[in-house]
Amino acid sequence: MADKVIDIWGRCLRIIRDNVHDASYKTFFEPIIPIDLNGQILTIQVPSAFVYEHLEENYIDLLRKTIRKEIGPDAKLEYSVVMQNESVNGQESVTMKMPGKENTKVSNKPVSLPIEKKNINPFIIPGIKKLHIDPQLNEIYSFENFIEGECNRLARAAGYAIATNQAGSSAFNPLFIYGGSGLGKTHLSQAIGIEIKKNFPEKTVLYVTAHKFQTQYTDAELNGNRNDFINFYQIIDVLIIDDVHEFAGKEGTQNVFFQIFNHLHQSGKQLIITSDKPPIEMQGLEQRLLSRFKWGLAADIQIPDFETRVKILKHKIYNSGIELSEEIIEYIASHLTTTIRDLEGAMVSLLAQSTLNKKEITLELAKQIVDKFVKNTKREISIDYIQKVVCDYFDMPVDVLKSKTRKREIVQARQIAMYFAKTMTKSSLTSIGSQIGGKDHATVLHSCKTVNNLLETDKRFKLYIDEIEKKLKL
Ligand code: ADP
Ligand code: MG
Repeated sequence: MADKVIDIWGRCLRIIRDNVHDASYKTFFEPIIPIDLNGQILTIQVPSAFVYEHLEENYIDLLRKTIRKEIGPDAKLEYSVVMQNESVNGQESVTMKMPGKENTKVSNKPVSLPIEKKNINPFIIPGIKKLHIDPQLNEIYSFENFIEGECNRLARAAGYAIATNQAGSSAFNPLFIYGGSGLGKTHLSQAIGIEIKKNFPEKTVLYVTAHKFQTQYTDAELNGNRNDFINFYQIIDVLIIDDVHEFAGKEGTQNVFFQIFNHLHQSGKQLIITSDKPPIEMQGLEQRLLSRFKWGLAADIQIPDFETRVKILKHKIYNSGIELSEEIIEYIASHLTTTIRDLEGAMVSLLAQSTLNKKEITLELAKQIVDKFVKNTKREISIDYIQKVVCDYFDMPVDVLKSKTRKREIVQARQIAMYFAKTMTKSSLTSIGSQIGGKDHATVLHSCKTVNNLLETDKRFKLYIDEIEKKLKL
Protein backbone atom coordinates (compact mmCIF):
# COMPACT_ATOMS: atom_id res chain seq x y z
CA MET A 1 0.00 0.00 0.00
CA ALA A 2 2.69 2.45 1.04
CA ASP A 3 4.66 1.44 -2.01
CA LYS A 4 1.69 2.06 -4.20
CA VAL A 5 1.24 5.64 -3.05
CA ILE A 6 4.94 6.34 -3.48
CA ASP A 7 4.87 4.79 -6.89
CA ILE A 8 1.84 6.78 -8.05
CA TRP A 9 3.19 10.03 -6.69
CA GLY A 10 6.49 9.31 -8.44
CA ARG A 11 4.65 9.09 -11.72
CA CYS A 12 2.74 12.28 -10.99
CA LEU A 13 6.01 14.06 -10.27
CA ARG A 14 7.43 13.08 -13.63
CA ILE A 15 4.50 14.79 -15.36
CA ILE A 16 4.70 17.82 -13.12
CA ARG A 17 8.42 18.13 -13.64
CA ASP A 18 7.89 18.50 -17.36
CA ASN A 19 5.37 21.25 -16.85
CA VAL A 20 6.85 23.63 -14.30
CA HIS A 21 10.05 25.57 -13.93
CA ASP A 22 12.95 23.84 -12.27
CA ALA A 23 13.09 26.26 -9.36
CA SER A 24 9.38 25.93 -8.65
CA TYR A 25 9.63 22.20 -8.89
CA LYS A 26 12.42 22.09 -6.35
CA THR A 27 10.73 24.52 -4.00
CA PHE A 28 7.17 23.33 -4.10
CA PHE A 29 7.02 19.75 -5.35
CA GLU A 30 10.19 18.02 -4.25
CA PRO A 31 9.50 18.48 -0.53
CA ILE A 32 6.04 16.93 -0.82
CA ILE A 33 5.67 13.54 0.83
CA PRO A 34 2.92 11.24 -0.43
CA ILE A 35 1.29 9.65 2.60
CA ASP A 36 -1.87 7.88 1.67
CA LEU A 37 -3.98 6.63 -1.18
CA ASN A 38 -7.46 5.72 -0.10
CA GLY A 39 -9.55 4.70 -3.09
CA GLN A 40 -9.03 7.59 -5.38
CA ILE A 41 -8.14 10.04 -2.65
CA LEU A 42 -4.48 10.90 -2.57
CA THR A 43 -3.13 12.57 0.56
CA ILE A 44 0.09 14.50 0.31
CA GLN A 45 2.04 16.16 3.06
CA VAL A 46 3.25 19.70 2.42
CA PRO A 47 5.80 21.49 4.57
CA SER A 48 3.75 24.59 5.34
CA ALA A 49 0.44 26.32 4.90
CA PHE A 50 2.16 28.67 2.54
CA VAL A 51 3.12 25.84 0.20
CA TYR A 52 -0.39 24.49 0.38
CA GLU A 53 -1.84 27.87 -0.59
CA HIS A 54 0.69 28.40 -3.29
CA LEU A 55 -0.07 25.01 -4.83
CA GLU A 56 -3.79 25.64 -4.72
CA GLU A 57 -3.41 29.03 -6.28
CA ASN A 58 -0.95 28.30 -9.01
CA TYR A 59 -0.84 24.62 -9.84
CA ILE A 60 -4.31 23.38 -9.21
CA ASP A 61 -5.10 22.69 -12.87
CA LEU A 62 -1.88 20.82 -13.40
CA LEU A 63 -2.39 18.81 -10.22
CA ARG A 64 -5.93 17.96 -11.11
CA LYS A 65 -5.06 16.75 -14.61
CA THR A 66 -2.08 14.81 -13.38
CA ILE A 67 -3.79 12.88 -10.62
CA ARG A 68 -6.79 12.16 -12.82
CA LYS A 69 -4.47 10.72 -15.39
CA GLU A 70 -2.57 8.58 -12.89
CA ILE A 71 -5.33 7.61 -10.46
CA GLY A 72 -8.62 7.86 -12.27
CA PRO A 73 -11.36 10.30 -13.29
CA ASP A 74 -12.65 10.79 -9.75
CA ALA A 75 -9.25 11.36 -8.20
CA LYS A 76 -9.17 13.79 -5.32
CA LEU A 77 -6.37 15.44 -3.47
CA GLU A 78 -6.03 16.07 0.23
CA TYR A 79 -3.34 18.01 1.98
CA SER A 80 -1.70 17.43 5.24
CA VAL A 81 0.18 20.45 6.47
CA VAL A 82 3.21 20.15 8.71
CA MET A 83 3.26 22.47 11.65
CA GLN A 84 6.26 23.34 13.69
CA ASN A 85 5.62 22.43 17.25
CA GLU A 86 8.14 24.58 18.99
CA SER A 87 7.30 23.45 22.49
CA VAL A 88 9.05 20.14 21.90
CA ASN A 89 12.72 20.77 21.08
CA GLY A 90 11.84 22.52 17.82
CA GLN A 91 11.97 19.29 15.82
CA GLU A 92 8.72 17.63 16.31
CA SER A 93 5.90 18.22 13.91
CA VAL A 94 2.20 17.61 13.93
CA THR A 95 0.21 16.86 10.86
CA MET A 96 -3.31 17.79 10.11
CA LYS A 97 -5.59 17.94 7.19
CA MET A 98 -6.65 21.03 5.42
CA PRO A 99 -9.58 21.08 3.08
CA GLY A 100 -8.91 21.79 -0.56
CA LYS A 101 -10.56 24.96 -1.73
CA GLU A 102 -14.08 24.16 -2.76
CA ASN A 103 -13.92 25.62 -6.23
CA THR A 104 -10.95 23.55 -7.18
CA LYS A 105 -12.94 20.29 -7.11
CA VAL A 106 -9.75 18.49 -6.23
CA SER A 107 -10.61 17.88 -2.65
CA ASN A 108 -14.11 18.38 -1.38
CA LYS A 109 -14.17 15.88 1.38
CA PRO A 110 -15.06 17.54 4.65
CA VAL A 111 -12.01 17.51 6.88
CA SER A 112 -11.24 19.30 10.08
CA LEU A 113 -9.87 22.81 9.94
CA PRO A 114 -6.48 23.62 11.37
CA ILE A 115 -6.59 23.82 15.11
CA GLU A 116 -3.22 25.27 15.88
CA LYS A 117 -2.91 27.50 12.90
CA LYS A 118 -0.86 30.00 14.81
CA ASN A 119 2.01 27.60 14.76
CA ILE A 120 2.28 27.74 11.02
CA ASN A 121 5.02 30.01 9.88
CA PRO A 122 3.13 32.28 7.52
CA PHE A 123 6.10 34.39 6.62
CA ILE A 124 8.43 32.03 4.83
CA ILE A 125 8.46 32.86 1.17
CA PRO A 126 10.70 30.30 -0.46
CA GLY A 127 12.28 31.20 -3.73
CA ILE A 128 9.64 33.32 -5.35
CA LYS A 129 9.73 36.99 -6.06
CA LYS A 130 6.21 37.99 -6.97
CA LEU A 131 4.00 36.91 -4.20
CA HIS A 132 0.30 37.39 -3.98
CA ILE A 133 -0.61 38.94 -0.66
CA ASP A 134 -4.25 39.49 0.13
CA PRO A 135 -4.43 43.21 0.94
CA GLN A 136 -7.14 42.60 3.60
CA LEU A 137 -9.32 45.37 2.22
CA ASN A 138 -13.09 45.59 2.43
CA GLU A 139 -14.53 47.07 -0.74
CA ILE A 140 -17.34 48.73 1.20
CA TYR A 141 -14.77 51.18 2.54
CA SER A 142 -14.22 52.90 -0.79
CA PHE A 143 -13.72 56.57 -1.57
CA GLU A 144 -17.11 56.51 -3.30
CA ASN A 145 -18.69 55.62 0.03
CA PHE A 146 -16.65 58.12 2.00
CA ILE A 147 -18.48 61.42 2.30
CA GLU A 148 -16.31 64.46 2.29
CA GLY A 149 -16.91 67.26 4.77
CA GLU A 150 -15.00 70.00 6.54
CA CYS A 151 -14.29 67.40 9.23
CA ASN A 152 -12.17 65.17 7.00
CA ARG A 153 -11.22 67.32 4.02
CA LEU A 154 -7.46 67.44 4.48
CA ALA A 155 -7.07 63.78 5.41
CA ARG A 156 -9.22 62.72 2.51
CA ALA A 157 -7.43 64.94 -0.01
CA ALA A 158 -4.01 63.74 1.11
CA GLY A 159 -5.15 60.13 0.95
CA TYR A 160 -6.57 60.61 -2.50
CA ALA A 161 -3.39 62.31 -3.71
CA ILE A 162 -1.34 59.34 -2.49
CA ALA A 163 -3.69 56.86 -4.10
CA THR A 164 -3.58 58.59 -7.45
CA ASN A 165 0.13 59.31 -7.19
CA GLN A 166 -0.18 63.02 -7.71
CA ALA A 167 2.98 65.04 -7.84
CA GLY A 168 4.33 65.91 -4.46
CA SER A 169 2.35 63.29 -2.63
CA SER A 170 5.60 61.67 -1.51
CA ALA A 171 5.63 64.46 1.05
CA PHE A 172 2.75 62.64 2.72
CA ASN A 173 4.86 59.75 3.90
CA PRO A 174 3.84 58.59 6.34
CA LEU A 175 0.28 59.79 6.15
CA PHE A 176 -0.80 59.91 9.77
CA ILE A 177 -4.58 60.05 10.20
CA TYR A 178 -5.90 60.68 13.68
CA GLY A 179 -9.25 61.29 15.35
CA GLY A 180 -11.79 59.92 17.80
CA SER A 181 -13.44 56.55 17.58
CA GLY A 182 -16.06 55.96 14.90
CA LEU A 183 -15.13 58.98 12.81
CA GLY A 184 -13.82 57.18 9.73
CA LYS A 185 -10.12 56.42 10.21
CA THR A 186 -10.42 52.78 9.24
CA HIS A 187 -12.73 53.63 6.37
CA LEU A 188 -10.42 56.28 4.94
CA SER A 189 -7.24 54.24 5.33
CA GLN A 190 -8.90 51.32 3.56
CA ALA A 191 -10.21 53.61 0.84
CA ILE A 192 -6.65 54.66 0.10
CA GLY A 193 -5.60 51.01 -0.17
CA ILE A 194 -8.52 50.16 -2.43
CA GLU A 195 -7.83 53.11 -4.70
CA ILE A 196 -4.13 52.24 -4.96
CA LYS A 197 -4.99 48.67 -5.89
CA LYS A 198 -7.36 50.03 -8.53
CA ASN A 199 -4.81 52.38 -10.04
CA PHE A 200 -1.70 50.25 -9.55
CA PRO A 201 -2.74 46.60 -9.41
CA GLU A 202 0.86 45.42 -9.35
CA LYS A 203 1.52 47.10 -6.00
CA THR A 204 1.51 44.99 -2.90
CA VAL A 205 -0.86 46.67 -0.49
CA LEU A 206 -1.48 45.43 3.03
CA TYR A 207 -3.94 46.64 5.64
CA VAL A 208 -3.30 45.39 9.14
CA THR A 209 -4.54 46.53 12.53
CA ALA A 210 -1.83 47.36 15.02
CA HIS A 211 -3.36 44.70 17.22
CA LYS A 212 -2.99 42.00 14.58
CA PHE A 213 0.51 43.14 13.76
CA GLN A 214 1.41 42.82 17.40
CA THR A 215 -0.08 39.33 17.73
CA GLN A 216 1.71 38.17 14.59
CA TYR A 217 4.93 39.55 15.92
CA THR A 218 4.53 37.88 19.30
CA ASP A 219 3.86 34.56 17.57
CA ALA A 220 6.85 35.05 15.30
CA GLU A 221 9.07 35.72 18.30
CA LEU A 222 7.83 32.59 20.03
CA ASN A 223 8.42 30.47 16.97
CA GLY A 224 11.82 31.94 16.23
CA ASN A 225 10.55 33.57 13.04
CA ARG A 226 11.41 37.14 13.81
CA ASN A 227 13.44 37.58 10.64
CA ASP A 228 10.80 36.03 8.44
CA PHE A 229 8.27 38.37 9.98
CA ILE A 230 10.43 41.37 9.18
CA ASN A 231 11.18 40.14 5.67
CA PHE A 232 7.52 39.66 5.00
CA TYR A 233 6.65 43.23 5.97
CA GLN A 234 9.60 44.66 4.11
CA ILE A 235 8.30 43.53 0.73
CA ILE A 236 5.06 45.51 1.07
CA ASP A 237 4.69 48.58 -1.19
CA VAL A 238 1.88 50.23 0.74
CA LEU A 239 1.54 49.38 4.41
CA ILE A 240 -1.54 50.53 6.30
CA ILE A 241 -1.34 50.20 10.08
CA ASP A 242 -4.64 50.94 11.80
CA ASP A 243 -4.92 52.11 15.44
CA VAL A 244 -1.22 52.45 16.11
CA HIS A 245 -1.93 53.77 19.62
CA GLU A 246 -2.32 50.09 20.51
CA PHE A 247 1.45 49.79 20.36
CA ALA A 248 1.59 51.81 23.58
CA GLY A 249 3.80 50.11 26.13
CA LYS A 250 4.67 47.26 23.76
CA GLU A 251 8.37 47.81 23.32
CA GLY A 252 9.24 44.73 21.29
CA THR A 253 6.55 45.48 18.77
CA GLN A 254 7.60 49.11 18.58
CA ASN A 255 11.20 48.06 17.91
CA VAL A 256 10.30 45.74 15.11
CA PHE A 257 7.90 48.26 13.63
CA PHE A 258 10.60 50.89 13.80
CA GLN A 259 12.88 48.66 11.76
CA ILE A 260 10.18 47.91 9.19
CA PHE A 261 9.14 51.55 9.03
CA ASN A 262 12.72 52.66 8.30
CA HIS A 263 13.23 50.08 5.62
CA LEU A 264 9.98 50.88 3.84
CA HIS A 265 10.39 54.62 4.13
CA GLN A 266 13.94 54.51 2.81
CA SER A 267 12.84 52.44 -0.15
CA GLY A 268 10.17 55.00 -0.97
CA LYS A 269 7.32 52.75 0.09
CA GLN A 270 4.16 54.37 1.39
CA LEU A 271 3.03 54.10 4.99
CA ILE A 272 -0.42 55.03 6.21
CA ILE A 273 -0.94 55.11 9.94
CA THR A 274 -4.04 55.80 11.98
CA SER A 275 -4.31 56.67 15.63
CA ASP A 276 -6.78 58.06 18.12
CA LYS A 277 -4.43 60.93 18.96
CA PRO A 278 -1.94 63.18 17.18
CA PRO A 279 1.71 62.14 17.56
CA ILE A 280 2.45 64.86 20.13
CA GLU A 281 -0.27 63.60 22.47
CA MET A 282 0.50 59.90 22.18
CA GLN A 283 1.73 58.17 25.28
CA GLY A 284 3.67 54.97 25.76
CA LEU A 285 5.35 55.20 22.37
CA GLU A 286 9.04 55.66 21.88
CA GLN A 287 10.20 59.10 20.92
CA ARG A 288 12.08 57.91 17.84
CA LEU A 289 8.89 56.35 16.50
CA LEU A 290 6.81 59.43 17.26
CA SER A 291 9.33 61.66 15.55
CA ARG A 292 9.06 59.52 12.42
CA PHE A 293 5.28 59.80 12.50
CA LYS A 294 5.81 63.52 12.11
CA TRP A 295 7.95 63.20 8.99
CA GLY A 296 5.03 63.18 6.63
CA LEU A 297 1.61 64.68 7.04
CA ALA A 298 -0.55 64.38 10.14
CA ALA A 299 -4.18 65.06 9.32
CA ASP A 300 -7.10 64.79 11.69
CA ILE A 301 -10.68 63.68 11.26
CA GLN A 302 -13.16 65.54 13.40
CA ILE A 303 -16.78 65.09 14.29
CA PRO A 304 -18.82 65.86 11.17
CA ASP A 305 -21.06 68.90 11.26
CA PHE A 306 -24.80 68.65 10.81
CA GLU A 307 -24.77 68.99 7.01
CA THR A 308 -22.15 66.28 6.64
CA ARG A 309 -24.09 64.01 8.98
CA VAL A 310 -27.15 64.48 6.80
CA LYS A 311 -25.11 63.72 3.68
CA ILE A 312 -23.68 60.56 5.20
CA LEU A 313 -27.14 59.37 6.23
CA LYS A 314 -28.54 60.09 2.80
CA HIS A 315 -25.73 58.21 1.14
CA LYS A 316 -26.25 55.17 3.32
CA ILE A 317 -30.01 55.28 2.88
CA TYR A 318 -29.63 55.57 -0.86
CA ASN A 319 -27.49 52.44 -0.87
CA SER A 320 -30.08 50.57 1.14
CA GLY A 321 -32.82 51.36 -1.38
CA ILE A 322 -35.29 52.53 1.28
CA GLU A 323 -36.78 55.98 1.44
CA LEU A 324 -36.80 58.17 4.52
CA SER A 325 -38.36 61.58 4.84
CA GLU A 326 -36.19 64.65 5.18
CA GLU A 327 -37.69 65.23 8.61
CA ILE A 328 -36.57 61.83 9.90
CA ILE A 329 -33.10 62.16 8.45
CA GLU A 330 -32.69 65.54 10.08
CA TYR A 331 -34.01 64.24 13.35
CA ILE A 332 -31.41 61.48 13.43
CA ALA A 333 -28.62 63.78 12.28
CA SER A 334 -29.37 66.34 14.93
CA HIS A 335 -29.62 63.87 17.79
CA LEU A 336 -26.73 61.56 17.10
CA THR A 337 -23.82 63.90 17.08
CA THR A 338 -20.78 62.13 18.44
CA THR A 339 -19.73 59.42 16.01
CA ILE A 340 -20.60 58.21 12.55
CA ARG A 341 -20.77 54.72 13.93
CA ASP A 342 -23.80 55.75 16.03
CA LEU A 343 -25.47 57.38 13.06
CA GLU A 344 -25.03 54.22 11.11
CA GLY A 345 -26.17 52.02 13.97
CA ALA A 346 -29.38 53.96 14.44
CA MET A 347 -30.08 53.80 10.76
CA VAL A 348 -29.51 50.09 10.58
CA SER A 349 -31.94 49.56 13.49
CA LEU A 350 -34.48 51.74 11.75
CA LEU A 351 -34.20 49.86 8.49
CA ALA A 352 -34.34 46.56 10.33
CA GLN A 353 -37.53 47.61 12.09
CA SER A 354 -39.12 48.54 8.84
CA THR A 355 -38.10 45.47 6.85
CA LEU A 356 -38.21 42.77 9.51
CA ASN A 357 -41.15 43.98 11.53
CA LYS A 358 -42.86 45.61 8.58
CA LYS A 359 -43.30 48.80 10.57
CA GLU A 360 -43.77 52.00 8.72
CA ILE A 361 -40.90 54.37 9.35
CA THR A 362 -42.46 57.29 11.15
CA LEU A 363 -40.82 60.10 13.04
CA GLU A 364 -42.15 58.46 16.18
CA LEU A 365 -40.29 55.22 15.43
CA ALA A 366 -37.13 57.16 14.59
CA LYS A 367 -37.38 58.95 17.95
CA GLN A 368 -37.72 55.69 19.85
CA ILE A 369 -34.71 54.20 18.15
CA VAL A 370 -32.55 57.27 18.50
CA ASP A 371 -33.52 57.45 22.18
CA LYS A 372 -32.52 53.89 22.79
CA PHE A 373 -29.34 54.44 20.91
CA VAL A 374 -28.36 57.49 22.88
CA LYS A 375 -28.96 55.67 26.16
CA ASN A 376 -27.30 52.42 25.13
CA THR A 377 -24.13 53.91 23.86
CA LYS A 378 -23.70 56.32 26.76
CA ARG A 379 -22.37 58.75 24.26
CA GLU A 380 -19.56 61.06 25.09
CA ILE A 381 -20.88 64.59 25.22
CA SER A 382 -19.89 66.37 22.04
CA ILE A 383 -18.44 69.84 21.79
CA ASP A 384 -21.29 70.77 19.45
CA TYR A 385 -23.75 69.74 22.13
CA ILE A 386 -21.92 71.71 24.81
CA GLN A 387 -22.02 74.82 22.67
CA LYS A 388 -25.70 74.34 22.05
CA VAL A 389 -26.55 73.93 25.73
CA VAL A 390 -24.42 76.88 26.78
CA CYS A 391 -25.99 79.07 24.09
CA ASP A 392 -29.51 77.97 25.01
CA TYR A 393 -28.76 78.85 28.60
CA PHE A 394 -27.57 82.35 27.80
CA ASP A 395 -30.13 82.67 25.04
CA MET A 396 -27.71 83.45 22.24
CA PRO A 397 -27.28 81.89 18.78
CA VAL A 398 -24.53 79.29 18.42
CA ASP A 399 -23.09 81.18 15.44
CA VAL A 400 -22.19 84.07 17.70
CA LEU A 401 -20.31 81.79 20.05
CA LYS A 402 -18.39 80.29 17.16
CA SER A 403 -17.59 83.72 15.73
CA LYS A 404 -14.63 85.88 16.69
CA THR A 405 -16.74 88.45 18.56
CA ARG A 406 -15.08 89.89 21.64
CA LYS A 407 -18.21 91.15 23.36
CA ARG A 408 -17.87 90.48 27.06
CA GLU A 409 -20.88 88.23 27.61
CA ILE A 410 -20.03 86.22 24.51
CA VAL A 411 -16.42 85.81 25.52
CA GLN A 412 -17.60 84.50 28.86
CA ALA A 413 -20.05 82.02 27.30
CA ARG A 414 -17.27 80.85 25.03
CA GLN A 415 -14.97 80.37 28.00
CA ILE A 416 -17.62 78.32 29.76
CA ALA A 417 -18.11 76.16 26.69
CA MET A 418 -14.35 75.59 26.51
CA TYR A 419 -14.24 74.73 30.18
CA PHE A 420 -16.94 72.07 29.76
CA ALA A 421 -15.34 70.76 26.60
CA LYS A 422 -12.12 70.27 28.56
CA THR A 423 -13.75 68.65 31.58
CA MET A 424 -16.40 66.56 29.83
CA THR A 425 -14.75 65.36 26.63
CA LYS A 426 -11.47 63.75 25.73
CA SER A 427 -10.70 66.38 23.09
CA SER A 428 -7.32 68.07 23.06
CA LEU A 429 -6.96 71.78 23.78
CA THR A 430 -6.18 72.38 20.12
CA SER A 431 -9.22 70.53 18.94
CA ILE A 432 -11.46 72.34 21.44
CA GLY A 433 -10.11 75.70 20.33
CA SER A 434 -10.64 74.98 16.68
CA GLN A 435 -14.25 73.96 17.30
CA ILE A 436 -15.13 76.86 19.58
CA GLY A 437 -14.45 80.14 17.85
CA GLY A 438 -11.32 79.01 16.00
CA LYS A 439 -9.03 79.73 18.95
CA ASP A 440 -5.64 78.24 19.73
CA HIS A 441 -4.79 75.91 22.59
CA ALA A 442 -3.38 78.70 24.77
CA THR A 443 -6.73 80.50 24.67
CA VAL A 444 -8.52 77.33 25.75
CA LEU A 445 -6.08 76.85 28.59
CA HIS A 446 -6.55 80.46 29.69
CA SER A 447 -10.36 80.05 29.54
CA CYS A 448 -10.26 76.98 31.75
CA LYS A 449 -8.15 78.84 34.30
CA THR A 450 -10.49 81.84 34.25
CA VAL A 451 -13.55 79.68 34.79
CA ASN A 452 -11.84 77.80 37.63
CA ASN A 453 -10.90 81.09 39.30
CA LEU A 454 -14.42 82.46 39.01
CA LEU A 455 -15.85 79.22 40.36
CA GLU A 456 -13.86 79.75 43.53
CA THR A 457 -14.59 83.43 43.94
CA ASP A 458 -18.01 84.17 42.47
CA LYS A 459 -21.06 82.42 43.96
CA ARG A 460 -23.45 83.55 41.25
CA PHE A 461 -21.11 82.35 38.57
CA LYS A 462 -20.89 78.97 40.28
CA LEU A 463 -24.66 78.77 40.21
CA TYR A 464 -24.67 79.25 36.44
CA ILE A 465 -22.06 76.60 35.97
CA ASP A 466 -23.89 74.08 38.16
CA GLU A 467 -27.09 74.66 36.25
CA ILE A 468 -25.45 74.25 32.88
CA GLU A 469 -23.70 71.14 34.06
CA LYS A 470 -27.04 69.65 35.09
CA LYS A 471 -28.47 70.38 31.66
CA LEU A 472 -25.48 68.84 29.97
CA LYS A 473 -25.85 65.64 31.95
CA LEU A 474 -29.56 65.34 31.25
P1 ADP B 1 -12.77 54.68 13.17
O1 ADP B 1 -11.83 53.74 12.50
O2 ADP B 1 -12.29 56.09 13.14
O3 ADP B 1 -13.17 54.27 14.54
P2 ADP B 1 -14.55 53.79 11.09
O4 ADP B 1 -13.71 54.06 9.91
O5 ADP B 1 -14.67 52.39 11.53
O6 ADP B 1 -14.11 54.70 12.31
O7 ADP B 1 -15.99 54.41 10.80
C1 ADP B 1 -17.16 54.02 11.51
C2 ADP B 1 -18.31 53.86 10.53
O8 ADP B 1 -18.65 55.12 9.98
C3 ADP B 1 -17.93 52.98 9.35
O9 ADP B 1 -19.00 52.13 9.05
C4 ADP B 1 -17.68 53.93 8.22
O10 ADP B 1 -18.05 53.38 6.98
C5 ADP B 1 -18.56 55.10 8.55
N1 ADP B 1 -17.96 56.36 8.10
C6 ADP B 1 -16.96 57.03 8.69
N2 ADP B 1 -16.66 58.16 8.03
C7 ADP B 1 -17.49 58.21 6.96
C8 ADP B 1 -17.68 59.13 5.90
N3 ADP B 1 -16.94 60.25 5.79
N4 ADP B 1 -18.63 58.87 4.99
C9 ADP B 1 -19.39 57.75 5.10
N5 ADP B 1 -19.27 56.84 6.08
C10 ADP B 1 -18.34 57.05 7.01
MG1 MG C 1 -10.99 52.00 13.25
